[in-house]
Amino acid sequence: MAIHTVLGELDPADLGPTSMHEHVFSDLRLWAKTGDDGIKWEGPIGPEAQAHLRWNGLHTPDNLLLHDPEVAVAEMEAVKRAGGGTIVDLTVNGMGRRVADLVEVSRRSGVPIAIGCGYYVEEMHPEELASMDVDAIAATMLDELRDGIDGTGVIPALIGEIGTNHPPTEAEWRVVRAAGRAGAESGAAVNIHLSWRGADGLVVTEALIEEGVPADRIILSHLDERLDEGYHDAVAETGVVMEFDTFGSEYFYSTKSRARNPTDVERLTFLARLIEAGHGDRIVIGCDIWSQGNLIRNGGCGYEHLFRRVQPALEWACGADAATVEKIMVETPKRLLDRP
Ligand SMILES: [Zn+2]
Repeated sequence: MAIHTVLGELDPADLGPTSMHEHVFSDLRLWAKTGDDGIKWEGPIGPEAQAHLRWNGLHTPDNLLLHDPEVAVAEMEAVKRAGGGTIVDLTVNGMGRRVADLVEVSRRSGVPIAIGCGYYVEEMHPEELASMDVDAIAATMLDELRDGIDGTGVIPALIGEIGTNHPPTEAEWRVVRAAGRAGAESGAAVNIHLSWRGADGLVVTEALIEEGVPADRIILSHLDERLDEGYHDAVAETGVVMEFDTFGSEYFYSTKSRARNPTDVERLTFLARLIEAGHGDRIVIGCDIWSQGNLIRNGGCGYEHLFRRVQPALEWACGADAATVEKIMVETPKRLLDRP
């Protein structure tokens, strides 16, 4: 068993408090709304843009690009100062993955970074995926899990985030099943990105279990973007790992559509319910940072938010005891990232 990071194998004892869902580098400008239903920020992106970006998250394409290694190192150094351990970067193929730069950022900041593999939503699938069947797609993931990514020698710790829309498209279903097959064969955990627009966690879980992934190695992302008690309870029943991973993002994507993130207070309230019901051993958390507005340098909460503010709030806002906090921050990430 081993925990693979961009700097090689990490002793599980050194994992520390872990954010299970981040993007150190990513390019999600595809989500930008460049039409007439929003106002673009015309100036430079800095703290002065923060208020605008909080209310118009998707209207400035540059907001959706994380590309600067110098900035990434500074943000990771803040993680270290806040007592953070490891960062899991789930920027997969097609999302602006930059493996060589991650190696550099991890080495310079001293923060271990574990990464995923696979494919995001269909809009970002590489062209060749359209003609590949489930086994052929699974083979691409198994290659990376065994031999590393693109000749860098960097081996992913897990599979995902695997992208799904609501409802998942035919191409996304093929990738979900491929991730399931690759997960079953390799023993790697599988993380699924779910759309806030639907409650697809249950059907996706069913498919992954059918492909042979044990429930406790399935991680469902973004459950805090769909705050629905009945849905959360049904997901908890299945035995999968529930991920609340957008702490620190309190944005209107667009005021015209009224689409917005929940607030941290709402996230903590729903998390408290699950912890109280005894599900503390199947919860992991993160900030899913993917925009400039999220960064400390631009007046956002930064990756450090999870360790500096959310981790203590698990006790004072969610009623978690010290053992449960340790499970959420360290033990469950360790179990999920450690693989044959
Ligand atoms: Zn996601």
